[in-house]
Amino acid sequence: MQVTIFGTGYVGLVTGTCLADVGHNVVCVDIDQAKVEGLNRGVIPIFEPGLEPMVKANHAAGRLRFTTDAAAAIESGDIIFIAVGTPPDEDGSADLRYVLEVARTIGRHLSRPAVVVDKSTVPVGTADKVRAAIAAELQARGADIAFEVASNPEFLKEGDAVNDCMRPDRIVIGASDPDAIEKLKRLYAPFNRNHERIVVMDVRSAELTKYAANAMLATKISFMNEIANIAERVGADVEMVRHGIGSDPRIGWHFIYPGAGYGGSCFPKDVQALARTAQHHGVEPRLLNAVEAVNEHQKGHLFELMARHYGGVDALRGKTVAVWGLAFKPNTDDMREASSRRLLAQLWEAGARVRAYDPEARQEAQRIFGERDDLLLCDSANAALADADALVVVTEWKPFRSPDFARIRGALADAVIFDGRNLYHPDEVEAAGIAYYGIGRGRSI
Ligand code: NAD
Repeated sequence: MQVTIFGTGYVGLVTGTCLADVGHNVVCVDIDQAKVEGLNRGVIPIFEPGLEPMVKANHAAGRLRFTTDAAAAIESGDIIFIAVGTPPDEDGSADLRYVLEVARTIGRHLSRPAVVVDKSTVPVGTADKVRAAIAAELQARGADIAFEVASNPEFLKEGDAVNDCMRPDRIVIGASDPDAIEKLKRLYAPFNRNHERIVVMDVRSAELTKYAANAMLATKISFMNEIANIAERVGADVEMVRHGIGSDPRIGWHFIYPGAGYGGSCFPKDVQALARTAQHHGVEPRLLNAVEAVNEHQKGHLFELMARHYGGVDALRGKTVAVWGLAFKPNTDDMREASSRRLLAQLWEAGARVRAYDPEARQEAQRIFGERDDLLLCDSANAALADADALVVVTEWKPFRSPDFARIRGALADAVIFDGRNLYHPDEVEAAGIAYYGIGRGRSI
């Protein structure tokens, strides 16, 4: 099938590549000329495991093309996806300016019937706005062309996006028009071979489904962080508690890891946007507000532990802190809303210096922070330890899981680890002569 995708970010690029990989003809459109030129030269703008060779292979095979020419891309698409960003507005609701700009562009250039599909995460009612924006442009140029607007929210997760896209848990199609539903079923048939993954529903339910999924996951994280904070105060170990509850299938093992708070481009903004939608419709989002408040607090917890260890914030002045992990989670270079950013800001505010290492986010960190005297971006985990007083682990990258504690002991002047992801066993760290602070590990108080 002929597919056009607006937006070559995490979602648009991965979706386009996977659709091309199963044989569809895909044109990806972006307004970022440098990105498009790079992609046409084989430069992949994001780190996502497995993505680069797939982009290159499908581009070379002619099934995956990148352009800034929206008119030509619209002309060629039977199915036109909108996969541009929906960042938070000032009040936390989703900013639809990019989505609606694409809708107007589609209306200006549509020359034959097509199905327009919202893949961006958008509030309930957005499909109606997209439909109205396209219709207004068609009317302005006196064109009478049939089109449908469907919702097809994306559930891939950064760090495992290609796998999620090739083997989705479910594919939600929100549409009322039988032809549009049929077209989308055909598009996704290659991903739906072994068992039925496609869930068809009305557009509004599909739009809400995406927010419900992310809000549920964020809720699990904030819940566990609250339990961790209780554990810390009452002298219990939340890791024991986690093992004690995860085996209950009603609870499950996923997303019950306490930590330094959730970040990324989705959970923070989607929880807020859903809360604003609720308020807008007269529903008080008590739980969603609490989920967000717990997370905001949790992002400052590592710094609190450090201040506690050193006997106050002032004692951090002049300290050099090694930070392992800057990305908001492993296997990505994405630092949007990452907990590391809060920690670094707090450390700098307190007058500490940072030596940071992240396996993939170095370039992104360089872009965000620029050159500063109190930040050194290092080439390896060991390089970050050199001349440092303390180590803080912020992202649970695999290579951080089994470090040489004797070496760390030798490197750190103050011999202390703040483990923001509970990667280590306190006994093992302490046996190496290093003070240990985890999240929700009451024994470390
Ligand atoms: P992103 O910021 O990585 O990419 C968005 C891209 O859209 C950019 O390359 C930008 O240049 C481009 N763009 C903006 N306006 C455009 C226009 N008028 N025409 C063409 N391109 C345009 O965003 P993302 O992370 O891929 O997220 C996209 C949407 O998908 C968001 O609504 C997000 O909430 C949702 N989502 C994201 C993820 C994720 O893990 N990142 C997962 C599921 C859903």
